Amino acid sequence: MTTTTDKHPGVATRAVRAGIESDTQHGAVVPPLHLSSNYAFAGFGEPREYDYTRSGNPTRDALGDALTALEGGKRAVVTSSGMAALNVLVQLLEPGDLFVVPHDCYGGTFRLYEALGRKGNFEVAFVDQTDDRAPRAACARGPKLILTETPSNPLLRIVDIARVAELAKQCGALYAVDNTFLSPALQQPISLGADVVIHSTTKYINGHSDVVGGALVAASDELGEELGWWANCIGATGAPFDSFLTLRGIRTLKVRIAQHEASASLLAHVLDEQEGVDRVYYPGLETHPGHDIAVRQQSGFGGMISFEIAGGAEAARVFCDSLEYFSLAESLGGVESLVCHPPTMTHSSVNEAALARAGIRQNIVRLSVGLEDSDDLVADVLGALAAARQATSLKTVAVA
Ligand SMILES: *Cc1c(COP(=O)(O)O)cnc(C)c1O
Repeated sequence: MTTTTDKHPGVATRAVRAGIESDTQHGAVVPPLHLSSNYAFAGFGEPREYDYTRSGNPTRDALGDALTALEGGKRAVVTSSGMAALNVLVQLLEPGDLFVVPHDCYGGTFRLYEALGRKGNFEVAFVDQTDDRAPRAACARGPKLILTETPSNPLLRIVDIARVAELAKQCGALYAVDNTFLSPALQQPISLGADVVIHSTTKYINGHSDVVGGALVAASDELGEELGWWANCIGATGAPFDSFLTLRGIRTLKVRIAQHEASASLLAHVLDEQEGVDRVYYPGLETHPGHDIAVRQQSGFGGMISFEIAGGAEAARVFCDSLEYFSLAESLGGVESLVCHPPTMTHSSVNEAALARAGIRQNIVRLSVGLEDSDDLVADVLGALAAARQATSLKTVAVA
């Protein structure tokens, strides 16, 4: 596999140039799509580079090489979803091994690891990594693997990757970072000490809401090989057509992220000044508790915003229903704006006690800010806020 990590050109250059003009058969500028599930041997006892697509596929490798270059890793494993990548990750664990996971991780991540922990595949500790004490206490118990998700979903809490990487090194644990919320355009965990980066490429990396996919990017060849062995073994590798589309999405990653962020930053500041908005969670706001760390370890604040709306779950419902340009849908990171009510959507598989522990209240709303004109998005949000205010104040009047 070739990587372009030796020279370190900029993110956009790496994203656009990865695999360009690599076709040796026809000189295709864009890497061709190889859908074939199998490959003929050159002759008896003469296998070629590829034999069977679950094990290896040129189009999937082109995507893997692009991700490797973007994250500054050594080897990528492309999977059929982000959850498949997170499932491949824990193949490294044995019964009795301790696995430290964020207490406020993605709902699907919580569901998978909680269930596998209950089955005895490994021991799992859900820990708040934003302060020093809990990770230190967990480290004293000798974990085999630590996972960080920063910014977290949906509260956009920031974890200091370099600090946890240092702790992981001290206690001899492998360190994985889920980089889905920012993408390598804004954060590169391997450069901060992570051993492996996880992605749901479904989100910003593909960016067009037409593929479900995932990836692991390893900082070393050995770890990449071990993860790749497991991905092939359990059949978690990604499909060629999905890989082709995802690589197409990657070409515009940097310019997309820049516009996502410009509009999100504008909206966060506007929301922060509105009556009827209790709290805005956006790492770009100076009042955000993780702002200073975000400035240090990220090259931007991203396109995701969460906020708490006055008037509880009912206000959240009216707000979501009143928007015109934000679709009420799961997922994030696509060109189209989305709104989500985490307690009833992305986090519906997280029980009430765990939601409370993670600080996720019933009046929270999450926005994935898309690429529509920012003026339209601001006007839409202000209109929906007014509708929510009116509906909930009318209700108070009616009750009185
Ligand atoms: C969406 C998401 C996942 C799961 O990825 P899928 O592609 O939906 O399987 C994992 N982690 C984070 C942070 C996510 O947002």
